Amino acid sequence: MSIHHHLDDATVVAFAAGALPTPIALVVSAHLSMCSECRARVRRAEAIGSAVLEDEAPVTMSAGCMNNMFERLEAETRTEVAAPTLTLSEKAEKDSILPPQVRKALGIPFSEIQWKRIAKGVGMKTIDLGTEEEGKLYLLKIEAGRVLPEHGHGGSEVTLVLSGSYTDHYGTFGPGDIADLDDHEDHQPIVDAGGDCICLVASETPARFKGILPRIFQPVIGI
Ligand SMILES: [Zn+2]
Repeated sequence: MSIHHHLDDATVVAFAAGALPTPIALVVSAHLSMCSECRARVRRAEAIGSAVLEDEAPVTMSAGCMNNMFERLEAETRTEVAAPTLTLSEKAEKDSILPPQVRKALGIPFSEIQWKRIAKGVGMKTIDLGTEEEGKLYLLKIEAGRVLPEHGHGGSEVTLVLSGSYTDHYGTFGPGDIADLDDHEDHQPIVDAGGDCICLVASETPARFKGILPRIFQPVIGI
């Protein structure tokens, strides 16, 4: 997997410190399961965080806890890679779009998702983490060729591409790429030809929602 768009530094540090809201942390961890470069950056941030804490206070940070998490993450990823791929049915192939932690949170196979149609060519599936007060997590399925109106972002939001691709003025985002945009960045994604674009999106609450979906949908879909 060739990944071109990564986490920004602030997100790496916040994740290493365990300071991200649960839905955003889950999308970040899904990107980390695909991206050795960002895994290394998180490890460096953890090491720096531990050193700072050791210098300043006798309390030790639970760096071991984070390391255990990464070992688990890597083990899960290795399991995925080790799974037989030649005999996969189309259904299993679709199911493999979801990283393990997302599959677990969703609770059903990808092929069994009942997409809620929220606009022409746009389907949505909310993933309930039981942490509504921290933000929202959902999957989007957007048809090839669809152009979304230009929009900005309110609050933190991260979008991880799982399948297909879209292009905006930051470039093309394909599988494994993460759009880690802040409040002031506007963009106008166009889903590339060649198939639906499946994205995993987490937004922080309270959100003046202006994410990958245009603001005009907000009153309609209540996100
Ligand atoms: Zn990365």
